[in-house]
Formats: sequence, C-alpha cells, structure tokens
Amino acid sequence: MRNQLEPLIFEISSPGREAFTLPELGVPEVQLPEGYTRQQLNLPEVSELDFVRHYTHLSQMNYSIDTVFYPLGSCTMKYNPKVNEKAAAIEGLSQVHPLQPESTVQGSLQLMYELQEALKEIAGFAAVSLQPAAGAHGEFAGVLIMRAYHESRGDSKRTKMLIPDSAHGTNPASTAMSGYTVVELPSDERGNVDLEALKQECDDTVVGLMLTNPNTLGLFEEHVLEVCETIHNCGGLIYGDGANLNALMGITRPGDLGIDVLHFNLHKTFSTPHGGGGPGSGPVGVTENLAPFLPGPIAAKDDDGYKLVLPEQSIGRMKAFYGNYGVFIRAYTYIRMMGPDGLRAASEMAVLNANYLKARVAPHFPVAVERTCMHEFVSHGDVPGTDIITLDVAKRLIDLGFHPPTIYFPLIVHDALMIEPTETESKETLDAFAVAMTRIAEEARTNPQVLHDAPHITPVRRLDEAQAARKPVLCYKG
Ligand SMILES: *Cc1c(COP(=O)(O)O)cnc(C)c1O
Repeated sequence: MRNQLEPLIFEISSPGREAFTLPELGVPEVQLPEGYTRQQLNLPEVSELDFVRHYTHLSQMNYSIDTVFYPLGSCTMKYNPKVNEKAAAIEGLSQVHPLQPESTVQGSLQLMYELQEALKEIAGFAAVSLQPAAGAHGEFAGVLIMRAYHESRGDSKRTKMLIPDSAHGTNPASTAMSGYTVVELPSDERGNVDLEALKQECDDTVVGLMLTNPNTLGLFEEHVLEVCETIHNCGGLIYGDGANLNALMGITRPGDLGIDVLHFNLHKTFSTPHGGGGPGSGPVGVTENLAPFLPGPIAAKDDDGYKLVLPEQSIGRMKAFYGNYGVFIRAYTYIRMMGPDGLRAASEMAVLNANYLKARVAPHFPVAVERTCMHEFVSHGDVPGTDIITLDVAKRLIDLGFHPPTIYFPLIVHDALMIEPTETESKETLDAFAVAMTRIAEEARTNPQVLHDAPHITPVRRLDEAQAARKPVLCYKG
C-alpha cells in the first residue's frame, strides 16, 4: 500500500510519454472537417504504469466498508455481501428494458412482488410500494399518502405535523415540502417523546406524528404504544421513519406497534452499498386503510402471472419507471440469503455489538442518555477539562484507521458522537476501535495539539466542509 503520509503528486506529466496504443486503422484514413480537431489539447502525458498508479492511488484514498470499520451512526454501514453483486449482474435482470411487455419480464416482476411481500412481513404492513428512491423520498411519499387519506375523508382542517426534536432533518423537510406546518416536540430526560407536550398539541388540526423508533439517540421509544394511541385518538396518523429497522428485524414490527406508514432504507437495513450519493431505495409500507393511496405502479399477481398496477386512489408516480431496480435485486438477495432467523440474528447482533462498544467507549466519552441502547449510541465528544471538541476526536480517528462516526447529530446533543457498529463487525474490530478511542482520550490530556492538527495522513487536512460540499473541485484543470 502507498505510504499515506506522502502527498499524492498530481503533476506527473512529461512530454512525449504515452499510455495508449491504438489498433491498426481498419478503414481508409480521411481528413476530419475543419473545426472538429484541435492542435492543442492540455492533457497530461504519462506512461501506462504512471497512469495505472495514479488511479490506483486515488482509489486507495476512498474510505469504504470494504477497507475500514465505518461506524457512521444512523447510516448502517454494514458489510455488503458480494453475492448481492453477483445476483445484480445476472443478465436476465440487468439487461431488460423498462418498456418491455410484461409477459417478457415475468421474472423481474416476480422479484419485485416477492420483495414487497417480504417487506410487508418484516415490518407488519398490508401493502408496500417500491417506488421511492431513498429514505427522504419515502418520507415525502408517506406524507403525501397521509394528506391523500385525510382529503379522501373531506377532513381539510388538518395542517400540523408533530415531529420530535430528535428527528432526522429529512422529517421536517418532507413535511414542509408537502405544505404542512412542523410542530417540534421536546424529548424527556430518558430520550423519549415528552408525553405531556404531545397531549397539549393533540387536536383536530393534527395531520400526524413522525416517529423514529429506535430514535436517533439509539433508544427504543418506551411509550410507543401510548404515543400512537394518543395520535390516533385525535384522528391523526403515525409516520414511522424506518431508517433504524436494523435494530428490530424479527423481534418486533412497526405495523404491530401502531405505525400507519413507514419507509424502509433498503440501502441501510438490507445491505446494499451506499454513500457518495446513492443509488438508494426507500420503499413505503402502509396499513390496509392507506393501501389505496400508495404510489405506483406496484407489482401484483393474478392467475395470468405478474403485472404492474396503480392503486385506485394512488398519489401517482414518485419516480421514472419502477424504482431503483438494481437495489431491489441486492436487498432481495440479502433477505433470501438471511431468511427470517438470519434477519433476527442480525438485529440481535447489531444491538449486542452496540452495547458492547458503548460499555468500552463510555468510560472515556460518556453517553448522552444512560440506558441500554439499541443498534447505536450517542456519546459526548467534547473532552471535559480540555479544549478538545467532537470534531478533533473525529478527525483523529482517521489517522488511527477508522471512518469517523456521525458527529453533531442528533442536534439535541450539542457535541454528539453517534456510533453505529452494525452486526457485521467482529469483536476484534470493536476492540481495536475502543483502543483508539481510549488513546484519543489520553491524547486530549497529554498531547492536545496532535488532535487539533488531525488528520495527519490525508492529502488535505482540515477543509472548509461547507465549501467543499457546495463548491467541490471535481475536474483536473492542468
Ligand atoms: C438515513 C436516514 C434518513 C434518510 O434516508 P436517505 O435514504 O438518506 O434519504 C431519514 N431518517 C433517518 C433516521 C436516517 O438515518
């Protein structure tokens, strides 16, 4: 492996070097028309070996789950089994055209149908649509479904959506996009929805409540039944943010807890690769009374085989064609490989791994709410008595060979370090991470400058992260 301390040198061009050989010309040579050719092209001139090394080094600068532990809280960066990729590459699935007649793509439709059925079973719903392209897109679909439901009953005075202050930012964003008003609910000291505050907001203007369970503190909502009942009693619906389903599979089902509509993140819970912008997939599951409003088309089955149908009062399409099909194949393969017992074992192990790591990390970085956690936990990243803050800790982890956890989220913990190990990591990896965290806590007291200056091994050090995201320089200018 390349010595990471050595900055990657971009300027390796030397006049006259070439990395290509063109085959013999198989057609007569002609002069291209005026204006179609350029004398000067400012391209680097490198040998084939320089070229190969350049791109190989670039690829080694990527962090990925295939190279390092990636405890990015809320993102469920579990291992993506390679058999999923093998399935997604099957020509009969990857080479079909979305406009082919249904009779010629029965296998593709069967896979969609069976994936819908599996998701219904796993989360306890009556119907599922695979249309939305990501979790946030599923939320938007879910809120539109809630609106269509209220409107279908002539119930037009409902305008406010209740959202706990621990929610992911996409929840209020999806609500605002749907034209509703967001009302924030505080959390109590055990990290649950504050029931008193909830009751005060409950009236006939409530559209519903968006609940994340386990919530973003990694805690199971202890009053989930009461929260759902309170909302239902005032005529509202419960939206479930299903991003944290990795803690629940085979143990309990959101539909059984009182959730009316929920999105799945196939790219989190069901092991499909993500990061760097997708593609993801955020199917929505609903109860019987919301099924007519689902976005479509969805896959259905009758005596003639499989077909695509649009539910009667559908909110319409959320996406071109049928959703992110490549993700369906991977998630379906994962579910079939794991089976019901395997999925339950995955959730149990995800919770066990998180609690083990919490026990090892908390003596140095105390948790925000001291309770048994689910599949992730939130620690305080600022080190008391020093000037070391969460950001320094996260950057130092890069030097020590780990992807940093999620930081400064959830917003209710001002110095949050949100750690999600997932079930696919070994005890050895968790121990190595705990050792790194212990070392950082020591360095905070003995050598704080090394933390302020971290990361030391990356080609660029501390970036203006907002500018880096908003104005990325993606193209070599020579
Ligand atoms: C990831 C996540 C989302 C959004 O899902 P995307 O697929 O990234 O759009 C919503 N809520 C929670 C709690 C999440 O972790």
